[in-house]
Amino acid sequence: MPEDVLKQAAAEMLDWQGSGMGVMEMSHRGPDFTAIHQQAQADLRELLAIPEQFHILFMQGGGLAENAIVPLNLAARMGKTSANARADFVVTGSWSQKSLQEAQRYCSTALAASNQESGHTALPMPASWRLSPEASYVHICSNETIQGVEFHELPDLRALGCDAPLVIDFSSHAASRPVDWSRVGLAFGGAQKNLGPAGLTLVVVREDLLGHALPGCPSAFDYQKLADAGSMFNTPPTYAIYMAGLVFRWLKDQGGIAAIEAQNQAKAALLYAAIDSSELYVNRVQAVCRSRMNVPFFLREERLNQAFLAGAQAVGLLQLKGHKSVGGMRASIYNAMPLAGVQALVAYMREFEKTKA
Ligand SMILES: *Cc1c(COP(=O)(O)O)cnc(C)c1O
Repeated sequence: MPEDVLKQAAAEMLDWQGSGMGVMEMSHRGPDFTAIHQQAQADLRELLAIPEQFHILFMQGGGLAENAIVPLNLAARMGKTSANARADFVVTGSWSQKSLQEAQRYCSTALAASNQESGHTALPMPASWRLSPEASYVHICSNETIQGVEFHELPDLRALGCDAPLVIDFSSHAASRPVDWSRVGLAFGGAQKNLGPAGLTLVVVREDLLGHALPGCPSAFDYQKLADAGSMFNTPPTYAIYMAGLVFRWLKDQGGIAAIEAQNQAKAALLYAAIDSSELYVNRVQAVCRSRMNVPFFLREERLNQAFLAGAQAVGLLQLKGHKSVGGMRASIYNAMPLAGVQALVAYMREFEKTKA
């Protein structure tokens, strides 16, 4: 979370803009919260240049719930039923693997491509994907948070002769760079990495993908019902929406998505350069698909891991331990991490290598 946003939320905690109540105390259908909700949606639409034919849905359940909600809503496109519904998956790391597994409960799935052979260090070229004409949609994770692999450019499925909509899980890099909506049918993400606090899930879905939910889809997860109700089918996560709205304002104050993207590129370039120029640290992801948000790296001398983490903590550099499934280290340098934070990390890494290795 940007520090300025936390300060503003603290200042408004007991009394939002003279209304006499805090945001958590408002009716979700009252005029004050309605204004907060609509402003957040409008600011996000402007920031990400989301075209009119896309709905913005504020949901709950996180990215993992969407792994079920997406097939429940999309698998039965084109007159299909749960008996013949099918979706294609490109597996490039832990999150897309999870998406594939969950979707198998609702439709048949096919593995269109995988980067398993490279140890999740490269991305399979879209021209090599085995896309099925029967697929109701094609799923990718556009930034693999654990392996640190990012699609810097989204695939153009139509150019590959595929008419199915592209679904992207952009949980961990939403609003870090522009999105080419002409290539996307649906994007989803838990808010907690880059957009606001946990509890809010963002879905951006193209109009023509609404209205195809399987009969077993819970009403609260039916995109059509949510869109019809303006994300007010039931009580939305009001405080998280308010906080995300403050983050969107903050992003606009930074100069918008182009400015934050430039800043993110500078932060990532600095950190990868420090890793590549060292004898101690290593990141094996191919340069063309290295994540700008999640930078995993390993110490060539694993016995130094604990000392590295303890020393980092001592100088205020926190949460650098890698995901338990891959080990090593990971620096998540989301939008709210200032360049100075990455500079401090790089300085610490150099110092540690000089004195300990
Ligand atoms: C964190 C993350 C998720 C999981 O999100 P939850 O909100 O915890 O369900 C899903 N996909 C990606 C890419 C993530 O980084």
